[in-house]
Formats: sequence, structure tokens, C-alpha cells
Amino acid sequence: MTIYLDSAATTRPGEACIAAMTDAMRTVYGNPSSLHSMGLDAQLCMEKARKQIAAALHCEPSALTFTSGATESNHLAIRGAAAAYGKRRRRVVTTSVEHASVRGAFDMLEAEGYEVIRVSPDADGILRAADIAAAVDENTCLVSMMLVNNETGAVLPVQEAFTQIKRQFSHVITHCDAVQGFLKLPVDPAKLGADLLTISGHKVHACKGIGALYHKKGIRLTPLLKGGEQETMQLSGGASLPLRPGTESVPLIAGFGTAVSELCGDLAQRSEYVSGLRSECIRQLSEIGGITVNSPEDGSPYILSFAVKGLRSETVLHFLSDQGIYVSSGSACSKGKLSGVLQEFGIRQGLADSTIRVSFCRDNRPEDITALCSALQAAQARLVHKR
Ligand code: PMP
Repeated sequence: MTIYLDSAATTRPGEACIAAMTDAMRTVYGNPSSLHSMGLDAQLCMEKARKQIAAALHCEPSALTFTSGATESNHLAIRGAAAAYGKRRRRVVTTSVEHASVRGAFDMLEAEGYEVIRVSPDADGILRAADIAAAVDENTCLVSMMLVNNETGAVLPVQEAFTQIKRQFSHVITHCDAVQGFLKLPVDPAKLGADLLTISGHKVHACKGIGALYHKKGIRLTPLLKGGEQETMQLSGGASLPLRPGTESVPLIAGFGTAVSELCGDLAQRSEYVSGLRSECIRQLSEIGGITVNSPEDGSPYILSFAVKGLRSETVLHFLSDQGIYVSSGSACSKGKLSGVLQEFGIRQGLADSTIRVSFCRDNRPEDITALCSALQAAQARLVHKR
């Protein structure tokens, strides 16, 4: 039995994605930069995927650059924008609940001498748009804020914050890590007021190792790497600049495009379905007792974080895993290490140590929730009294 409840960590690639990838490997193996017709076929295959993803983001295909995943997209956006705009303006603003890849990019900027402001949620565990906006000043070159938190599912007020910031300081570049929101909530960078926006393939039923960065036309980024001129960015006057060197992975890109076009048609229906699973999970957890839900009520329908009183996360995780039920402790990205993000949201250490994150996708069934909850009950009965 496999009950996979860890889709925020990664998703199972869809059959259509696997078929597109296999087909690209078998038949479209030319180098997209080659001038012969096999090169052209590879380029066309890649451009088809770019169009599919652009359609889902309501943007021009030329506004998308393929990367190796969200970690790279976040670094390219944050360090690339700071390098391009931060010569005179040395202040950068972010939140204290970002993914490790965003935190890491800001740590690197700090080491280079930038003033980094990390805005925390308030006493109620809510990140306020006004607090982000208040941290921005004339010397700020960049603001980065995630759309959906990967540990709790909290939805951050990105549009509100970016609108306020742009109204007061139009020069500020805005970046959003939308990895956990893309194809789950409506994501439109123009509506969000995001100049830069990160997405990742393996969170949307494509393969690992592929992502993209949206960049609004006219925004300049300094590349992280120099080499070939494969992925470029368009400048206002129609010229283009090399942005991301390296031979593109056509199979990964083809699979990404296919996965996105498959998902983007039924976003609302899927969200409603998954929301039903989450509500049912909360209901059944409340009947078990000894469980505290960490996620906000109005959080993403795809993520549910809760603490199992008296048990350590890892103990529960392994107990469930032995029964074929797969979940995360807090956040899979931190490999069992506490990231500090739960505490930032006001969840006290004791509960954070006992936190389990379950995350859903279209493939989950109501029976998965029932199996999870009865296994949790068994874990409590078996393990709590042993301590
Ligand atoms: N940002 C967020 C919010 C994430 O959840 C993740 C993946 N856990 C990443 C960035 C990194 O994504 P990738 O694995 O594609 O580098």
C-alpha cells in the first residue's frame, strides 16, 4: 500500500509528462542551439513548452527562462537583481518565513554587505502587507516574498504588499517565490505586481531538476553564470541579453510544459476537491484528540501542518512510513532539521518538534485520509505511553 501525502515535497510525474519526456529523449535529441534541422526540432519542442507555461502564467513566452529548479530561479532573481540594481541602493527586504533557497540567497547578499531586512509575522502569526511595505525605503532595491509557505500553507499577502510598495517606491524590484502556489491558486505575475516570479516543475507533476523564472520585460538581471547564450532575457528596446548558459534539457522542459498544460485547465475544480480532503482531514484529526493544527484556516488547501502531542515528528513519520503512509516532518526541504519557520509563525518549540506536514494532490482519495488518521491513532496508542 502506498499512501502518498507529501506532494509539497514533490509530486508523482504524470503519465503525459513521462510520455513527452520519453518522446523528447528518443526523437528530439538534437541540441537546440545546433543550426541543422534536428537542432531546430529541439528548439521548437522547447518553445512549445515555454508557450504552455506562459499561458498558465498569463505572460509572454519570452518572459520565461528555464532553470534547474526553484532554488536556481530564486538565486537568479534575488542575487541577479541585487547585482543589477544594488550598486547604490544597498537595502533588500524579505520575510523570515521563506524557503531555505531564498534565505540562502539573502544570506549571501548579507555577506556581500547588503543590509537585509527580514520581516516576521506579528504576534498572531500573520505576516502583514503593511509590515513588509514599512520595511522598504528609498535605499531598497529588492523585495522578495513567497506566495504560499511550504511548511504551513499560509498564503502571504503578496499582491497587497507589492502594490503598496510600488505605489510609494516604483524603482523597487519585486520577486515572488510562487512554487507552492503555482497551479494551486490563480497566479498571474502582473496581477501580483511581481517583476520576477519563481516556479518549479516537480511540484506540479513534472520531473525534478526543471524550473523557470518569470521576468517582466525591461527588468535587468545579472547572470549567475557566464558561458553560452542559451537562455536570454528581452530588454525594452527589443535587444536580448544572455541570462542562463548551458545546453537546455529538452526532455525536462517538454515534460514541464505538458504537465503544466494538463493541470492549468481545472485549477478551481482541483482546489475544491483537495480542499474537501483537507477539511475532512481536520475533522478526523479533531476526533482523535491530542492534535494541534498549525496551519491557518484560510491557508492553501494543499497543505496541512499539525502537531501530535507527546510524540516527536520523526517517530511518527517513521511509524507511518512503515505502514506505507508518506508524510513530512515540518518541511522535507530541511531533512528533519527544524528550519525555525514554524517558530516564526508563533508555533512553540514543543509543538514544532512534534509537527507533521501532510500535503495533497489530485491523486489522493478520501480513504487516504481515513488510513492516515487511524494510523495516527495507532501511533498514539503504541508510542505515547512508551516514553
Ligand atoms: N521554494 C519553495 C517554497 C519550495 O517549497 C521549494 C521546494 N521545497 C523550493 C523553493 C525549491 O524548489 P526546487 O526543489 O525546485 O529547487
